[in-house]
Amino acid sequence: MRDVPAYVGRFAPSPTGPLHFGSLVAALASWLDARAAGGRWLVRMEDLDRPRCEPGAADSILRQLDAYGLQWDGTVLVQSLRDDAYAAALAALQAVGAVYPCACTRSQLAQAPRNHESEIIYPGTCRNGLAAGAIARAWRVRVPDAASRFHDRIHGELTQNLAHDVGDFIVKRADGWFAYQLAVVVDDAFQGITDVVRGADLLWNTPRQIYLQTLLGLPMPRYAHVPLITNAAGQKLSKQTRAPALPGAGQGAVMTQALAAIGHAPARELAGAGPAELLAWASASWQIKNVPRHPAIANTPP
Ligand code: GLU
Repeated sequence: MRDVPAYVGRFAPSPTGPLHFGSLVAALASWLDARAAGGRWLVRMEDLDRPRCEPGAADSILRQLDAYGLQWDGTVLVQSLRDDAYAAALAALQAVGAVYPCACTRSQLAQAPRNHESEIIYPGTCRNGLAAGAIARAWRVRVPDAASRFHDRIHGELTQNLAHDVGDFIVKRADGWFAYQLAVVVDDAFQGITDVVRGADLLWNTPRQIYLQTLLGLPMPRYAHVPLITNAAGQKLSKQTRAPALPGAGQGAVMTQALAAIGHAPARELAGAGPAELLAWASASWQIKNVPRHPAIANTPP
């Protein structure tokens, strides 16, 4: 019998640019949770959104992980090479009538209501068939009008009604690329992920992913969403908010700040320590219950 690892975690960056302090925090929490459990930790490049990917970013990200001592196991899975797997999942959804073609354009949806994450709540325009002459552009999954409950290891029990808060969501985009929600579910299952630890910006994507897992008969990993890192203006660190890339030197000091943001400020004796020593200490001290729910402000944009 094959040995089934008890814990498989992952870090799934989108190579739209180098890692910044916020992405380091997510990677670090996921790495620590995996290593503290004696588990494996995988890296997956989420380069589905070709127009947003930056040449060379995937390599920079791997070099940055290396420089911060965040060693991964096995080979890196690259989503742009996995279209066949996503197409098979879409075909499975089509076969059971769980998805439908949608002809709506962005401008047609511009006036639709938005949820608390500013995402459009799809009003269901194409749910019962396309209007005469309309051209199918995307594929959407029909969502139930019912409470989806889920457990997050940091945020506790949460509930979302997919119909009210999201609406039927896209699994294949109008530009022909598969959507993140579909790919993430297919790949988490393919890689045997038992534990997803990622940034809280994705917390409210979880019910969509659990719903797809149910439709596709895939196992559901456990979820933990670590605090978002914001700049002084309260904006999430991202390429759009011009978050600087992680510095190529002084990694110990940056990692000390990152550990503090996830409730594991290193002991005073570790002042001046490098990443290897900090990681050894943090994986021995790791307790997910000490990770705060609230966002943290990056005090010095590193
Ligand atoms: N690729 C996503 C991002 O960089 C993360 C996906 C995930 O962790 O599920 O925001």
